[in-house]
Amino acid sequence: MPTHPILIAGGGIAGVASALSLVRNGRASHVFEKAEAFETVGAGLQIGPNAVRALKYLDVWDTLAASAFAPPAIFIRDGHSGRLLQEIRLGIEFERRFGEPYRVIHRADLLTGLVERARMHSAIELKTGAEVMRFADKGGYVEIETRSGRVRGEALLGADGIRSVIRQTLAADGPPVRHSEVLFRALTTFDTPMPERLAGITLWLCRQGHVVHYPVRGGKALNVVAAAVKSPWPGEDWSAPADRQEVMAHFSKIHEDLFQVLAVSSRWLKWAAADRGPTAWSRNRVTLVGDAAHAALPYLAQGAAMALEDSVALSLCAQRSDTIAAAFSAYEALRKPRTQRMAVESRRLGRIYHAKGLLRVVRNEILRLTDQARFVDRLAWIYNYDPGARSGAQN
Ligand SMILES: Cc1cc2nc3c(=O)[nH]c(=O)nc-3n(C[C@H](O)[C@H](O)[C@H](O)COP(=O)(O)OP(=O)(O)OC[C@H]3O[C@@H](n4cnc5c(N)ncnc54)[C@H](O)[C@@H]3O)c2cc1C
Repeated sequence: MPTHPILIAGGGIAGVASALSLVRNGRASHVFEKAEAFETVGAGLQIGPNAVRALKYLDVWDTLAASAFAPPAIFIRDGHSGRLLQEIRLGIEFERRFGEPYRVIHRADLLTGLVERARMHSAIELKTGAEVMRFADKGGYVEIETRSGRVRGEALLGADGIRSVIRQTLAADGPPVRHSEVLFRALTTFDTPMPERLAGITLWLCRQGHVVHYPVRGGKALNVVAAAVKSPWPGEDWSAPADRQEVMAHFSKIHEDLFQVLAVSSRWLKWAAADRGPTAWSRNRVTLVGDAAHAALPYLAQGAAMALEDSVALSLCAQRSDTIAAAFSAYEALRKPRTQRMAVESRRLGRIYHAKGLLRVVRNEILRLTDQARFVDRLAWIYNYDPGARSGAQN
């Protein structure tokens, strides 16, 4: 048995989920999170059937299900005319088709659920205020350096997000790629029951931008994300506060219902849209998980799902491999095609979502005339995915 634990740099969804997946294989881990507490910030995350499948593998779905919200449908509307272009019902038929439900959840609720489950395992040690500054692969073990000293581990997972320092050393492939969109996010709490028309996931397609909103926190808060095609974010910052005027200024001549949604939120946060190109993720005893490995633009709403799937894949590959290095290369081979496809499709979707002129007219007609069942068929590659089935391992 290994004498050192697996070290995990980053206590976001990828890091804590990986600790839970490794404990299924009887492996101890230490999670090092640089923030002073596990960040209970963020807003809404979409949890499709593939993400629910992963959460069940990690044995956390039962406790999370209560804080997740069940939207009745995904509505796609033209942001200017308000016309309904497509509707995906997320009820029992959808659930039967993909084997698991579609939910939305607040990021803090998901992370808290994972952290609470991790605290139940003595084999998982969670440290906060513990920034991993560098690492060295010593051949037979790895060593990381934090402000409080050096720690040895059997292996290292870089789960430190899109601006991963572990990736910087491992792949040295530069910073994330910034795109021309600025993303705005607001979370508005309702004291009275939320209007019925806000119960679904609604995607408004506008010229040079889009807005998506859905309820979280059991339907007591509305999560709104607006993508505005501008010019790439200047300077070194990645996020900043924003005000309603800045958001409204971009979305002009929009439908009254969308105007109301944007107007209801007064406190906004903006951040630079970015993703990462493909690179080699694994070398000997070090690999990357989650956004550190494959951050994508958020248009397929699969960032958290990819992190959760990674953790399951890692556990399954570790079960089947004789060495940790072999497990990491099997994991990378299993995950790379899917996460790369997700990044490419997200970029493509951005171009479709933000179309103007004739392209917009054609897009709207295609969406409107596509049969709902056929539309759902096109999403099957996302929601049907099961890393267990692909690795040939027993779930
Ligand atoms: C504060 C925050 C809020 C977010 N809110 C949303 C949201 O509302 N909606 C949405 O769709 N997505 C949100 N995301 C992104 C989403 O959580 C991720 O895209 C997805 O879940 C993949 O998670 P990850 O664990 O790979 O990366 P992340 O969620 O980015 O987590 C990385 C973690 O590593 C820590 N870290 C970074 N560097 C170091 C280091 N050197 N040493 C130790 N720890 C380090 C970070 O503090 C962070 O906790 C948010 C991310 C963060 C960090």
